[in-house]
Amino acid sequence: MNSSDHQTKETPKSEAITDGLFGTEETIIRYGESVLESMGKDHPFYGEYDILLKNYKKMYKQLSRLVKINDKQQSKLSQANTILAIHSRYDALTGIYNRRAFNELYEREWRRCIRYGHTVSFLMFDIDHFKNVNDRFGHPAGDEILKNTAKIIEAAARREGDLVARFGGEEFILLLPDTSAVHAFKIAESIRKSTSKECFYYEESEIRITLSAGLASMVPDVGAEPERLIRRADEALYLAKRTGRNRVCVYEDVRAEGSDHAG
Ligand code: GH3
Ligand code: MG
Ligand code: MG
Repeated sequence: MNSSDHQTKETPKSEAITDGLFGTEETIIRYGESVLESMGKDHPFYGEYDILLKNYKKMYKQLSRLVKINDKQQSKLSQANTILAIHSRYDALTGIYNRRAFNELYEREWRRCIRYGHTVSFLMFDIDHFKNVNDRFGHPAGDEILKNTAKIIEAAARREGDLVARFGGEEFILLLPDTSAVHAFKIAESIRKSTSKECFYYEESEIRITLSAGLASMVPDVGAEPERLIRRADEALYLAKRTGRNRVCVYEDVRAEGSDHAG
């Protein structure tokens, strides 16, 4: 058999296999094998051609191994990104929204209330003397109390659009779009009462806590800053703390008090 014989034999064309990532490489290998076979071992270039083909196959194997490793890494990366996306929106301890996610969603609700002329009510809760709970019963007990408090507030957020979030430490917020101040006050009172009635058991201890809350409500105007409502609720909360805790104060109480900070 001479060198031109192989041209007369049927060999797979490189276009024949195009499926898959390595279609071209696999076609080249099959083509090379068929060429080698047609050449026969006596051909003067057989040895060199054989080595070339073997090296090509080795490289091809390495390449597919690298692609597999890369695929695995990509899938790990995408899992990590999903976990990261969850962590960036939810509070790890209580499972409710964190402040960052809340800010995003709040902006949206705020704009919606401007569009429809709805009242937005904003409640800020803070556990009373929570430092004492940690000091007396330990930090893990404090953590359980935080989880429980989040559940109580969450249970009160029944309507679509109601938003519960952990604002930080032992502070929680409840946004009630399209909810009057009167109705929001009732919700706040019911959360406060359920919390104060609940006896929480941790290991051998019975733990009771109370909540203070600040409420602010407004019909937002175009151009009004959403932070204004948060500041007002915060001032009302501060008043609740100053006037005895375990109570709900409204921003109007702050104004009635003639606070310099009322804004
Ligand atoms: P006040 O009635 O004035 O709100 O008093 P307080 O003790 O609740 O407030 P203070 O700001 O003095 O203390 C808040 C405490 O909350 C201190 C901090 O260790 C605790 N805390 C914040 N985050 C966590 C948490 O994730 N887990 C636990 N167990 N404690 C926390
Ligand atoms: Mg606090
Ligand atoms: Mg507190």
